[in-house]
Amino acid sequence: SDVNLNKNIRHQFPALQQRINGQPLAYLDSAATSQKPAPVLAAIQHFYRRDNANVHRAGYTIAARATEQFEQARAKVAGYFGMSARNLVWTRGCTEAINFVAYSWALQQLNAGDLLVVSGLEHHANLIPWQQVCRARNAELAIIPVLATGELDQQAFQQLLQRRPKLVALTHVSNVLGTVNPVANMIALAHQYDAKVLIDGAQAAAHLTVDVAELGADFYTFSGHKMYGPTGIGGVLLSNDMLNQCQPWQTGGEMVEAVSYDTASWAQPPHCFEAGTPNIAGAIGLASAVAFLEQLPEDWQQQEAALLAYAQQRLAAIDGIRLIAAPAEQVAVQSFVSDRIHPQDLAQYLDQFGVAVRLGKHCAHPLLAALGEPVTLRLSLGCYSNQQDIDQLIAAIDAAHQGDTETAVSAENNHLDL
Ligand code: PMP
Repeated sequence: SDVNLNKNIRHQFPALQQRINGQPLAYLDSAATSQKPAPVLAAIQHFYRRDNANVHRAGYTIAARATEQFEQARAKVAGYFGMSARNLVWTRGCTEAINFVAYSWALQQLNAGDLLVVSGLEHHANLIPWQQVCRARNAELAIIPVLATGELDQQAFQQLLQRRPKLVALTHVSNVLGTVNPVANMIALAHQYDAKVLIDGAQAAAHLTVDVAELGADFYTFSGHKMYGPTGIGGVLLSNDMLNQCQPWQTGGEMVEAVSYDTASWAQPPHCFEAGTPNIAGAIGLASAVAFLEQLPEDWQQQEAALLAYAQQRLAAIDGIRLIAAPAEQVAVQSFVSDRIHPQDLAQYLDQFGVAVRLGKHCAHPLLAALGEPVTLRLSLGCYSNQQDIDQLIAAIDAAHQGDTETAVSAENNHLDL
């Protein structure tokens, strides 16, 4: 079928070859973290087996190899996002990248009474750091409301811009609803009002072609583990202007030029923002993941979109299943609930059928409250997802619905806090 992705892709993922409870693993939780292809696993092993040494210090052969590979990885990953190596600061992931911008930039730039705008769709990672910064600086935090479709209220956004915020922080793709925000337009509008813009790219990087330079984002953050790379590596891409405005938020080894007992001077960006030994193997593994993404079949994004449409159509056809929101632009993620079975029971049932989906509030408590949903089940796709994964999910839901209906509980009575 044309919604079946190339089998060659799936074969490259060892974790997808296993069976769970006697069923093939239908991994539908790639928004939480993606599985890792064999070349990424091999790149990490190769580094540790052959080239392991600390970077930027010693001049001996394997240290030079480690440094070269680490800096080549920076160039590779930055290039994937349309940026240069010096515009990429490594972090542990997207959360740390946003915190870096909050503490290295926003804390220096904000004054009492300033306005900061965040969207109502945000993951806690792109909300709480701004609450903290606003509290510390006595600045105000305003929220762009979410419409019932799962899209942002663009009129409200434009009204907020007239109040001249210092920063707009918003996600490229919602991790709960899959909404693709019109970030190019929103950035251009924000810039008309001299606001800087941070885009949280955690859910976009593995599904969309992202050119940060073309988008014009001042900051663009991402997590390696959601784009087929290892955990513990991610980063922020910054414009040259922002690179110059940021102050080191952590200090110590690797980030200095000259040090005396009394004082120290900083290395050039981006190195002055990377105190301590970095995640060398992680960066190398992520560069390998980017190489993997770059060699996917040309139409892989369309294939993923077709599979999402297939999943939506199959879910919508089940009596008692309700899809949450319906943004016009959506990728890889679909939230849903059953009106017949308690979501926790349903998730457990699905696991018995080898189906891995996420249950809960998806680190977006305010969004779930705004949607009026206590919790949702969420399926999310990767380049390896195929029609069989979806068919297995549908069969499991059907079985659950036909089974023990006495465990059905009204979703409204549910106070799970996941
Ligand atoms: N933002 C979004 C939209 C996310 O989906 C996530 C991960 N669930 C994050 C930020 C945080 O990423 P990490 O946990 O890798 O730091």
